[in-house]
Amino acid sequence: MRILGLETTCDETAAAVVSCDGEGRGHILANEVLSQIAEHAAYGGVVPEIAARAHVESLDLLVARALARAGLDLSDMDGIAAAAGPGLIGGVIVGLTAAKALALVAGKPFIAVNHLEGHALTARLTDSVAFPYLLLLASGGHTQLVCVRGVGDYIRLGTTIDDAIGEAFDKTAKMLGLPYPGGPEVEKEALRGDPERFNLPRPMLRRDVPDFSLSGLKTAVRLEAERIAPLSATDVADLCASFQAAVVDVIVDRSRVALRAFHAAAGNPTALVVAGGVAANQMIRAALQRFAAEAGLRLVTPPPALCTDNAAMIAWAGLERLRLDLTDDLTAPARARWPLDSMRA
Ligand code: ATP
Ligand code: MG
Ligand code: FE
Repeated sequence: MRILGLETTCDETAAAVVSCDGEGRGHILANEVLSQIAEHAAYGGVVPEIAARAHVESLDLLVARALARAGLDLSDMDGIAAAAGPGLIGGVIVGLTAAKALALVAGKPFIAVNHLEGHALTARLTDSVAFPYLLLLASGGHTQLVCVRGVGDYIRLGTTIDDAIGEAFDKTAKMLGLPYPGGPEVEKEALRGDPERFNLPRPMLRRDVPDFSLSGLKTAVRLEAERIAPLSATDVADLCASFQAAVVDVIVDRSRVALRAFHAAAGNPTALVVAGGVAANQMIRAALQRFAAEAGLRLVTPPPALCTDNAAMIAWAGLERLRLDLTDDLTAPARARWPLDSMRA
């Protein structure tokens, strides 16, 4: 089985071809990603109108490149998948419409994939992970702890009541004069900073519902920065290290509480899976590795390039759905909002 997948929900234009072998294991035959970061950098964040136009300009080229790299033709595909949301609606419409047109022309099944389900199932492409598993999805737009019971079958255990974790990294970076996207920059600065210099809050610590709140932490960084301004390079590094240490404590604490909720809802998870752009952070990975070992759980984190937005995850989610006969017709809508736990297989 081979699927072409398209991703255009945010600021990455991407096309990929993924297959599965006789044992059901996934293989990435092509994974083309064009980041628009340079086009949005001057604005310190993603500008929806610029994003949509950039997707229009490059998507057909990326599809051609992905098929060429895979050495395959549209007619070799068993289905065409696109992320139908959630995301910036202008961009979503570009990828969704392109995939529908390709499916129609080639006479192939079409699959409308939830972008979050793409992140949620990536671990089953890169590792063999059985259901049910505990998922921490942490990206620029989302922060959720999820019980993944099957394809299309999700229980959201906790989420953020304000900023996403990636967003908190991005806003902290911006405040400190670091470039966008802020996650990798803050991580780099934190490496040479003192994580104990600033005593920052750990919001929600020990609350018995595994929700997150990050805006207070971000504000605390701003107040400290204003208090000691002008900032030296050491100040910036220390603020980044202190911020990251607080985030790590919160993530581990929230994951611990989510594991308890998971037991009540679905028994024992087969693994702890971390996905989304924030999963690229080495400090967060290491802390979760320690937590997982304590809890007797296997930690599975897809490689960083498959944690940030890409089309291989969309193609793979499409493949998982197609093999369960979960296809969509060409009226499938583009959705700005599409909560994972609202889907049913
Ligand atoms: P979503 O998937 O929710 O629609 P998105 O497309 O912005 O949002 P991703 O591409 O999965 O999300 O992740 C990007 C986010 O991950 C950004 O906020 C970025 O700062 C953050 N990020 C990337 N690398 C790191 C890192 N090393 N440490 C912390 N955060 C990181
Ligand atoms: Mg992105
Ligand atoms: Fe994403």
